[in-house]
Amino acid sequence: MLAVVKAKPELGGIEIREVQVPRIKKSTEVLIKVKTCGICGTDVHFYEWMPHSRWIDLPRILGHELAGEVVEVGKDVVNVKPGDRIVTETWGGCGLCYFCRTGVFNMCLNQQRLGQQVDGGMAEYVAIDQINLYTIPDSLPYDQAAVIEPVGVALHGLEHVTTKPGDNYVVLGPGPIGLLAGMLAKASGAAQVFITGIAIDEKRLELAKQLGLTPINIEKENAEAIIKDKTSGLGADIAIDTSGGAGSLSQAIRFLRLAGQIVLVGLAPASEFDYTEIVKREVKVFGTWRRQPITWMRAIRLVANGVINVKPLISHVMPMGQAEEAFKLLHARKGIKIILTAN
Ligand SMILES: [Zn+2]
Ligand SMILES: [Zn+2]
Repeated sequence: MLAVVKAKPELGGIEIREVQVPRIKKSTEVLIKVKTCGICGTDVHFYEWMPHSRWIDLPRILGHELAGEVVEVGKDVVNVKPGDRIVTETWGGCGLCYFCRTGVFNMCLNQQRLGQQVDGGMAEYVAIDQINLYTIPDSLPYDQAAVIEPVGVALHGLEHVTTKPGDNYVVLGPGPIGLLAGMLAKASGAAQVFITGIAIDEKRLELAKQLGLTPINIEKENAEAIIKDKTSGLGADIAIDTSGGAGSLSQAIRFLRLAGQIVLVGLAPASEFDYTEIVKREVKVFGTWRRQPITWMRAIRLVANGVINVKPLISHVMPMGQAEEAFKLLHARKGIKIILTAN
């Protein structure tokens, strides 16, 4: 079968290889025929070999944002059957460690992350343990289903904050997660959702406007002044930082009202910030990492019922054999969500 492999520890280092179809090794494993696999910002970090996100063993078949069809199940599989359409969590959850037993699955101590420590979904087939799998309705197309994983990332960010209809939000960074966070804020009843970006994000900021968000190019406009002006001088109630930019936390604090809430989703390089500002303003800062099982259930409901329309985010649908071209597009910050297709 065809597979997209991150082979070398350098910028690029992607190979399209012919490899063996994986076999079910454990009685709880499921063989999935992959239909679609999205390229995540994390995959782009691996492509670029960014120093702060090299948590991948090489060589490795990339991809964790996959959707597909169950073709074979181990003898102890109870939650799916051949023919089921599925999306998948990306690390398992051993069910036995302290965090799994206390319901904090995303902190599982025994993670085997898909497309990082075990082979992922940028291939025609992948074997995955049943604990990861969630079925999706027939009405949900596979290209949109591949976007449910990032919807879950953005949604889990929002699951940390206390929010009410009428709150004002600012999202930093108009990438797929930022745009999804903005859409979810709107769906939660936000009065206004500002979204900030830089010149290279021009197309993404245009799309943000079409999605009902208020785009601000921070290289051309004074974002703090605009947000304060539109929020009676207070600042936004909630900031969601998906930008991964150095210094973005300090920026988020300036956009926020006193005693506001900040969710940090983006992976930023180490940078300095002023602790005193967090103390004096009583800012609540939440780190957020991946999702919980309930997040998957909510994300599937939101997308399948059209509350969150992921279609405008899909800029390219390309066959898996063209993965290298797809990575080059994202490296150049062209396109938004690229979905690779197989089978
Ligand atoms: Zn992802
Ligand atoms: Zn665990």
